[in-house]
Amino acid sequence: MKKRSIMKQSLSLLLVLGTVLYLAVFAAEAKDIKSKEAKYIIAKATDSASAATAWATGYKTDDGNIAWLPGDPDTGGNRKNDGSLKTIAEWLRRLKDYAIGVVSTVPFTHATPAAHVSHNKSRNNYHAIGKEILTEVKPEVVIGAGYPAGSSCTNTKSSSYISKETYDAVCADEDYIVVTRISGVDGGMAILRAAQQAAANGKKLFGLFGGSGGHFESLVPHDLPETPLVTQATRENPTLAEATLAALKVLSQDPDGFFLMAEQGDIDWANHANDFRRMIGTMKDLHDAVQAVIDYVNQPDDEMDWNNTLLIVHSDHSNSYMRNQVRLGAGELPIQNGPPYVYPEGEVTYGTTNHTNELTRLYAKGTNIHKFKKYEGKWYPGTEILDNTQLFHMMMEAAGVPIESPLRLDPRLRRKN
Ligand SMILES: [Zn+2]
Repeated sequence: MKKRSIMKQSLSLLLVLGTVLYLAVFAAEAKDIKSKEAKYIIAKATDSASAATAWATGYKTDDGNIAWLPGDPDTGGNRKNDGSLKTIAEWLRRLKDYAIGVVSTVPFTHATPAAHVSHNKSRNNYHAIGKEILTEVKPEVVIGAGYPAGSSCTNTKSSSYISKETYDAVCADEDYIVVTRISGVDGGMAILRAAQQAAANGKKLFGLFGGSGGHFESLVPHDLPETPLVTQATRENPTLAEATLAALKVLSQDPDGFFLMAEQGDIDWANHANDFRRMIGTMKDLHDAVQAVIDYVNQPDDEMDWNNTLLIVHSDHSNSYMRNQVRLGAGELPIQNGPPYVYPEGEVTYGTTNHTNELTRLYAKGTNIHKFKKYEGKWYPGTEILDNTQLFHMMMEAAGVPIESPLRLDPRLRRKN
């Protein structure tokens, strides 16, 4: 039995948004969408696969690649004899014996969770990604969408996001407690009960939820000025907060520490649709999850506190050049018709339905954040800008195991060559 050591325990929690929310950016800027700067901002931007690969491995890669070198080579990676890249979860599992987990409100095989716990030349190979995650990498926690409607461990089926073969394999695997969506059953309670059971018995946890849209069915805001209210579309899926708490319960059993990536993935989907209402629901889901993590760490009389825990909240990319043209009050929503969504009163405008090059924000709390300071502006002197690959190095350094990546594309060094 390993001895518990408070100082050894360390956590990186990444809550990934697909958008930047500007609450008070007014007309002048949005009307200027034809400016040179605006044209750059809405020009082709990174996708979620290359963005997640950047901070999960320290490498830049092509869009669509899941922890795999650019150009899809079959050699040259740093993991095995192919083009795959070792992810931060794999590094920390190997070097620090961390437990590892991913949580997402979109399919567990989708780009962002996939780039932390699998490797593939294409983000679209969902069945192969799912098989690798659940039968090879086998993280201590996997919770996400992709649930085949009407299925269970006694009646497995395929969906676009998981094959029947993999579903059968994880249900038969004694290492895992498997919990799925069930008609009429509270998904939040189900995942939390399963987490208690997994924690008590030293098991891993796989939670498979979601609806026909391939996600947890976004929370719904109501237009109630001065009495803001957001409710769940259904209780059959957990909220991101509940899924994240379940993950924390299982992962925190490991005395060596853990790594968790938790994603509110349908913020991005809402913004692709230019759907402001849905975006507000998804942002509330993220907000509640961040608060739940903070409350979990703040609990007294346990081994987790901010001296041994690092929380990072950030976004993989921005989306849609959304601007509020008027300041909406608490609980107030714009007049919104569609789909396709339009805003006849003009309270909200969008510049595109794609990802954008707007800068995103990074928030962090806890141990070793002072070590982040030296990365600010390192590639872009005179700014506080970080590159997404630097996040990999920041997290590894915070965990006490800095890694030098050979593919640091410092623009000044490239010019010299
Ligand atoms: Zn997207």
